[in-house]
Amino acid sequence: MSITPLMPVYPRCGVRPVEGDNCHLIDEDGTRYLDFASGIAVNLLGHSHEGLIGAIQRQAAKLMHVSNLYGSPQGEALAQELIDHTFADTVFFTNSGAEAVETAIKTARAYHQHAGNEERYELITFKNAFHGRTMATISASNQEKMHKGFMPLLGGFKYAEFDDLESAKAQIGPHTAGFLVEPIQGEGGIRPASDEFLQGLRALCDEHDLMLVLDEVQCGVARTGTLYAYEQYGIEPDVLATAKGIGGGFPLGACLATEKAARGMTFGTHGSTYGGNPLAMAAGMAVMEAVANDEFLASVREKGERIRSRLEQFIGNYPELFDFVRGRGLMLGVRMKVESRPFFQHLRDNHQLLTVAAGDQTLRVLPPLVVGDTEIDEFFDKLSAGAASYEIPTD
Ligand SMILES: *Cc1c(COP(=O)(O)O)cnc(C)c1O
Repeated sequence: MSITPLMPVYPRCGVRPVEGDNCHLIDEDGTRYLDFASGIAVNLLGHSHEGLIGAIQRQAAKLMHVSNLYGSPQGEALAQELIDHTFADTVFFTNSGAEAVETAIKTARAYHQHAGNEERYELITFKNAFHGRTMATISASNQEKMHKGFMPLLGGFKYAEFDDLESAKAQIGPHTAGFLVEPIQGEGGIRPASDEFLQGLRALCDEHDLMLVLDEVQCGVARTGTLYAYEQYGIEPDVLATAKGIGGGFPLGACLATEKAARGMTFGTHGSTYGGNPLAMAAGMAVMEAVANDEFLASVREKGERIRSRLEQFIGNYPELFDFVRGRGLMLGVRMKVESRPFFQHLRDNHQLLTVAAGDQTLRVLPPLVVGDTEIDEFFDKLSAGAASYEIPTD
């Protein structure tokens, strides 16, 4: 037998972490890495947050799971916390980002179909988007590399150019149910939408009775310096998918919606065995307690600005490698003039600095939101050493 015990869908690297220490990871051979990847924007409280660890430990000892057959005081508390801090009136809890996006897609379709408009099932999505790896969420993305081998796709998606309002508008037709969009494309290369674009989509939705569905799985939960990124655009969505950071490392996602948008999500229309279980709720509540306050959010903005301006200064020393810096808060991308993947591997393997490669030749810088001055200095030391020692691969 040659297949590996873990289904070989990931090209895993040689780093094999067995322990976390705040903003560092320790490999099974004892090597320490500075973690500016945060499990891809997940571990926003780092790896040693006492509030989060304690909440999970206490809840695990008390009650982990009961199913959604019963009332959920824990779920109601976290849903209320999210409602109090966002546009939403109601919340469905999931175990992952893709499930949260799936729920959002179903919610948008059901909004129209519940009102008898069966023909309005199509979501307009955007090129180079990433919405997850389930059949619906790969169908929602135009990226062929995710489709190959999995045809046929789920119908009902149309792709427009990201950050291009005219292109979005041109796709509206009698079947349109709404737009599904990342305010800041993550996998696509940390590409923030412009104010005009998101505000324009909102206006189109209002005009044509469409659902504005935001995928904030990566950019949400304080990552950009506001609890959700949409706040910075002066708009509110109808439906929003959140996950990644919301459990701080515990698998948790949610679909948030207004009362109006959720009109089709009635008894029996949707479900999840694990979704919203007490253990996940304890993790989500601990994360919200840590991040959903002005002081914490201001600290994310301040650190984001600081890292960004240092990055901008730094890249000037290597004009052959780096192009520009983009992003918001602590969701930063360094657009490179060369492929970003080999450079990210070089930082990881030769300088023990973990970042994430993304589309559009971008290096993602996603530190835990609790990152401190010492770690920021360490990041720049490693990055400088990495850039100085880097030889651009020639093949
Ligand atoms: C990661 C991600 C997803 C999928 O989340 P999973 O938890 O991997 O299913 C969806 N949308 C965006 C924007 C993401 O970054």
